[in-house]
Amino acid sequence: MVGLAAQKDFPIFSHLIHGHPLVYLDSGASAQKPRCVLEAMTRFYETDYANIHRGVHELSQRATARYDEGRRAVQRFLNAAHDDEIVFTSGATEALNLVAASWGRTFLNAGDEIILTQLEHHANIVPWQLLRDQVGFTLRIAPLQPNGDVLLDDVTALINEKTKLVSVAHVSNALGTVLPVEAIIAAAHERGIPVLIDGSQAVSHGAVDVQKLDADFYVFSGHKIYGPTGIGVLYGKRALLATMPPYQGGGDMIESVTFEKTTYQAPPLRFEAGTPPIAEVVGLTAALAYVTGIGMEAIAAHEAALLAYGTKKLAALEGVRLVGTAPHKASILSFVVEGVHPHDVGTILDQQGLAIRAGHHCAQPAMEALGLMATVRASLGLYNTREDLDALVDGLKKVREIFS
Ligand code: PMP
Repeated sequence: MVGLAAQKDFPIFSHLIHGHPLVYLDSGASAQKPRCVLEAMTRFYETDYANIHRGVHELSQRATARYDEGRRAVQRFLNAAHDDEIVFTSGATEALNLVAASWGRTFLNAGDEIILTQLEHHANIVPWQLLRDQVGFTLRIAPLQPNGDVLLDDVTALINEKTKLVSVAHVSNALGTVLPVEAIIAAAHERGIPVLIDGSQAVSHGAVDVQKLDADFYVFSGHKIYGPTGIGVLYGKRALLATMPPYQGGGDMIESVTFEKTTYQAPPLRFEAGTPPIAEVVGLTAALAYVTGIGMEAIAAHEAALLAYGTKKLAALEGVRLVGTAPHKASILSFVVEGVHPHDVGTILDQQGLAIRAGHHCAQPAMEALGLMATVRASLGLYNTREDLDALVDGLKKVREIFS
């Protein structure tokens, strides 16, 4: 079930915000949690919880089984070929930093180039800059079109003999643009160049098949797909992960330790130093079961219809300008209201129970390219309805009245 019928699965919708029913249009920042996720985590803490891997006792074995089951659930969700291609991290940000620190530090040298796009989230820019400043490679940036699109030709035009990696978003968090990732991957692979896809804004809006995409790395965060915070995923092809040194040192990632020499576990454990987010893996497992139970196609179709509806409504609203109108978009409506700062729009809408985001959305280069400091962003989830978008339009009319 999607839309209003799904809202009963989410306890948050039974609470009023400033005396109004909640209209939650901020799932791009973080999605709300269905009761099944909350209950799975509580039940796990109440009945099966212990630290994993190191224990011989019953609870430790049960917790380890749940953790391993979570890895297989993510493998199935992404259609990865092997469960050892799934590394648990604290989020997409850590997954990106892991690839930069481990793969990047090993394989990137002065004079090399990596390709990003102008619409990347800061999490897919800054880790590469930090490494660039130490190693001396170059970031090549595929430009943003005025409508928020990134063109395949603009990405492939940057590929040359120095290119060592292409790292791009699947869907832009600021604008909703869906990038032609399958074609980008195919073009990069023709030259033997690996591709990282930041799927943070993609996984909750439609089915993702990493084998079909042929992505080399694919990252996402649990909290944007109705799971808990503190858990994320790095998918990496087995052959690639096998070439990568540890990212952090600590317990669980070693085979044996002496002061002279330490040997490491094979991936994925090599990259999961220390006590991992165990209950969060249980929560993510429940979240993936929830969305796949509804069906990713059903969610995609519901959100696509809402996006079309919202786009039409906002486009017809005087004084409102949509930002990001690429032909292929997912679940995000970014816009500006003439003469009103996005933060003021956000504050006024909040008073009416509407949760939207205002700001640069951690994509300052994209904002700059479009000549903006900030936008208002309404982002959709499976629980949104046409009525939510009508409420947004009514709220924006009030904003215009106040500022007229
Ligand atoms: N990439 C994109 C496209 C995102 O939207 C986000 C979150 N806004 C991130 C990366 C980072 O995710 P997190 O903060 O959960 O690590």
